Amino acid sequence: MRDSRLPAKRGACALILCAATAAPAGAAAQDSGGGSAYVATPKVAKVTCLRSCASKKRLRGGSVLKVTGTELAGVNRLTFHGSYGKADDLAVKVRPGSDTRLQTRVPLGAVTGPISLTTAAGGRSSLSRAVLILPPLPPAPNPELSPVPGPRVAGAPGLETGTSSTKAFVGARPGVRFSYRLSGASATSLKVELVSAADGTVVKAWTPQDVAPDVAQTVSWNGRIGRAAARPGRYSFRLTAAGADGTVARNSQTGDVQRDSFDLYDHIFPIRGPHDFGGAAGRFGAGRAGHIHQGQDTFAKCGTRLVAARGGRVKFKQYHALAGNYIVIDGDGTDVDYVYMHLDQPSPFSAGDRVYTGQTIGAVGDTGDAVGCHLHMELWTGPGWYDGGHPFDPLPSLKAWDSWS
Ligand SMILES: [Zn+2]
Repeated sequence: MRDSRLPAKRGACALILCAATAAPAGAAAQDSGGGSAYVATPKVAKVTCLRSCASKKRLRGGSVLKVTGTELAGVNRLTFHGSYGKADDLAVKVRPGSDTRLQTRVPLGAVTGPISLTTAAGGRSSLSRAVLILPPLPPAPNPELSPVPGPRVAGAPGLETGTSSTKAFVGARPGVRFSYRLSGASATSLKVELVSAADGTVVKAWTPQDVAPDVAQTVSWNGRIGRAAARPGRYSFRLTAAGADGTVARNSQTGDVQRDSFDLYDHIFPIRGPHDFGGAAGRFGAGRAGHIHQGQDTFAKCGTRLVAARGGRVKFKQYHALAGNYIVIDGDGTDVDYVYMHLDQPSPFSAGDRVYTGQTIGAVGDTGDAVGCHLHMELWTGPGWYDGGHPFDPLPSLKAWDSWS
């Protein structure tokens, strides 16, 4: 069998049959020319869930899974292939373990589908049978200080923690707040870390000094890393307090994506009340006398509160015969300009003002050329509104923001 023909043969077989008819371990290195090194080909026999499971056979984001099989010792990467082509593939690093079993954590974004294993030497398993993966559990609400679960470590400080919200928005103020209180033994060192659940990296850290016991302390975060917007997704506050004798207390274990956790979103839906997206006439690109409709109309009662979908700097606040009262905000950490029209009153903000994500900018109205109370919203690419940018269809964004706001 020639080396070069193997991939074509594998690619042609059906998914489930592949597992049964895949070449034997080591075949990839068989070579009519001779002389090449043996490359172990890992093989997946079974995938089960070990911890934080939906059930033994059903994983969810954040679960720890176990793979049993053969030639696993050199595996350093596990790929979740998902269900929808390459776009939903997710790979995680795997620490080398035994030849017949390995374990790793399911990333939050992984979806149902086959998995495969890759070794550092380039060996690659066939695709496994589809592994069932449910969405991760939502963050556990913990808005008030509460004792950290689990047995207290003797000699370590006692900990209470709380996190103000299970949802946060980039650029909102106040940000999401993490509070903590120590009791009993005092801490000689204290660290608060903000961990991204997507990859386990610490995106921000605080090292408070001289924290008195029995007094609540708070840190807060606005969804930014420096000036840039952090990636949307699950984040957790992790508090580590060491006592004088070196014993350590923590509010959660590595990989816990519920305790003192929240989901960060990049926008909030701007209409804070019942609303609907209307019919074809209100869509982006619909015909108008002499031009096309450059935004999306969303209908709501006049007077419904309007907030900034994304904070930024106000570029224009004006009245126009067609647009009525309108305001244009240059979004922070993005090239996009956000345009809100037909407000019932002029916005209290003026050009140059800074606005936070979620801050009230006015109310739905029908000023200007409007039939019925609605928000006409436009989104423009950089450099911006009538300034070299161009409008794009806001409806997909509005629907996404609406789904989580
Ligand atoms: Zn409109």
